[in-house]
Amino acid sequence: MFEDLVSPEVASLVPYPPGKPQEELERELGIRDSIKLASNENPLGPSPKALAAVAQALGRLHRYPDGQGYYLKEALARRLGVAMNQIVLGNGSNEVIELCVRTFLRPGTNAVFSDPTFLVYSKVVQGAGGRMTRVPLKGLRHDLAGLRAAVDDQTRLIFLDNPNNPTGALVSRADIEAFIRDLPRLAVLVLDEAYVDFVRHGERIEPRAWIETDHPILFLRTFSKAYGLAGLRIGYGLAHRELVDYLDRVRQPFNVSSLAQAGALAALEDDDFYRLTLETTWAGLDWLKGETAALGFTAYATETNFMMIDLDREASDVAKAMLHEGVIVRSLASYGLPRTIRINAGTGDENRRFVAALKKVTAGNVPAPVRG
Ligand SMILES: *Cc1c(COP(=O)(O)O)cnc(C)c1O
Repeated sequence: MFEDLVSPEVASLVPYPPGKPQEELERELGIRDSIKLASNENPLGPSPKALAAVAQALGRLHRYPDGQGYYLKEALARRLGVAMNQIVLGNGSNEVIELCVRTFLRPGTNAVFSDPTFLVYSKVVQGAGGRMTRVPLKGLRHDLAGLRAAVDDQTRLIFLDNPNNPTGALVSRADIEAFIRDLPRLAVLVLDEAYVDFVRHGERIEPRAWIETDHPILFLRTFSKAYGLAGLRIGYGLAHRELVDYLDRVRQPFNVSSLAQAGALAALEDDDFYRLTLETTWAGLDWLKGETAALGFTAYATETNFMMIDLDREASDVAKAMLHEGVIVRSLASYGLPRTIRINAGTGDENRRFVAALKKVTAGNVPAPVRG
């Protein structure tokens, strides 16, 4: 009835894969104590220091937040060795993705990114009526040469998640830096480092030096994963001060809530929680890799807090069957990987429950193996 009120691009948008509230799911399936390993969240909960800071900040909810995010930017600047005016805060790093599109993409211009990659890039670009060129991963890794070849004189944005979601693969520092040097000046590279905290092997690229250069590049970071604050919605971008200035003009004046600012600031100082998160994640991933291999499945190498597992059969059937065991995993059918699931490392207990459920579900006759 209302199709004529929206653009064809908006009409053809597909809603983000629905995550049912866990409580709702439990009620429907008649199960209890379900565990969720589907959204790459922190299994340890939020940083305790962040929780205390948020509680402290509650009494000032009648005030608008600090629109500049002064204290958080000051702490980030100190930690990262950048200037405060090289930081833009967002309501989740997702909002910074949206800001980049609204700031740099104009009618007739395009964005370039891999396929599969984080689903939000295509969603935001399409919603804004931008064109997009998707470059298939090569051997489940970013194809940098392919991405470079896809960039034309109308390209204004390139999204590169490093490590990549959903594969977990990391592109080396040397390869990224060569890629940056080879890009045309009109295309802004958004280097999405949502999982950079979890990188174990391989050298990280240093934002500080790059955001002083005349290469248009924006680093994207989040408090949703390693800091356990996904529900608070806070992330940030690091870029040349001129780019940050443009993004600041486009954003809403009070885009980041006072609770999010307080929580993120405290989480940033919570070194114990951060270390424990990394150790729990790495130990969990190593254990899960061994256990899934023992069941005959292939877990892919990862530099994140999650891993992809090839089940050699229709993964959405497995994911559905696992729901009845109270284990929520992500089937990657919507990413074009129908035999694969993605799970994040959980607590020790959660990991054991996942393996037990996977064993039970794949040993039965539930999923029929499919090929091709
Ligand atoms: C989880 C994730 C994010 C985080 O988004 P927020 O809006 O900060 O919660 C960003 N990029 C990728 C690739 C992710 O997987």
